[in-house]
Amino acid sequence: MNTFEEYFETGLKFHGHRCPAMPMGLRAALAAMKTLGVEHSQDKELQVLSETGEGHAAGCFLDGVMVVTGCTYGKSNIKKLYYNKMAFTLIDVKTGRSVRVSIKNEVLAQSLKSPFIEQRKAGVPPQDVPAKIADPVIEKVLNIPEEMLLNIGEIKVIDVPKGKGVFEAEPCAKCGDMTFVNKLQETPAGKVCIPCAG
Ligand SMILES: [Zn+2]
Ligand SMILES: [Zn+2]
Repeated sequence: MNTFEEYFETGLKFHGHRCPAMPMGLRAALAAMKTLGVEHSQDKELQVLSETGEGHAAGCFLDGVMVVTGCTYGKSNIKKLYYNKMAFTLIDVKTGRSVRVSIKNEVLAQSLKSPFIEQRKAGVPPQDVPAKIADPVIEKVLNIPEEMLLNIGEIKVIDVPKGKGVFEAEPCAKCGDMTFVNKLQETPAGKVCIPCAG
C-alpha cells in the first residue's frame, strides 16, 4: 500500500498542476477505502460514482479519487453523474458494500473564497498561480482533520451491475476501423460502427 506522500506525488504528476482540489480527492478516497476496508483497485474490484461534473471549480477532486482508488476511465469503473457536487460513492464490487463521501459544506465554501480561487477567477491558469499563494491553500487541505474535511456516510449494500468485457473486434464494413463487436450494427452493407451507422 502506498503512503499518502506517494499518492500525492503520483497525483501531482498525473494531474499536471498544484491545486487544493486534487489532494481533497486523495484524502476523501483514502477515507472511503478505509471505511470499506478495501485496497486500490487492480482491475474492477472497486467502482466510483462521482457526483462532480464539468464547468465548475474543484472538479480536479476526481483526479485525486482516481489515483487513490485505481478506478479509472480506461477500466470504465468510474462514472461521472454531473450533479456538480463534491461527492462520490465508492463501491466494493464483490460485496456490494458502498459508502458516500463528500466534502463538508464549510470547507468547500471557504476554499471557494481562497486566494487560489481569486487567482483562478481572475483568469490565471492553475499552473501559473504562484507557489506562495497555492502552497498554503494546499497545506490546509493536507492538514485539516478528517472529521472537519469530510462527511462519511453509512455503509450501504447495493446491487452492482456486473458485465463481462468483450474480447472480439472486427473491422467496420464502411470505415475499416477495428471495433468491438458489441457496438457493431447489422446493416444491409454489413456490420458497421456507430458513426458510420449515422
Ligand atoms: Zn487541479
Ligand atoms: Zn465505421
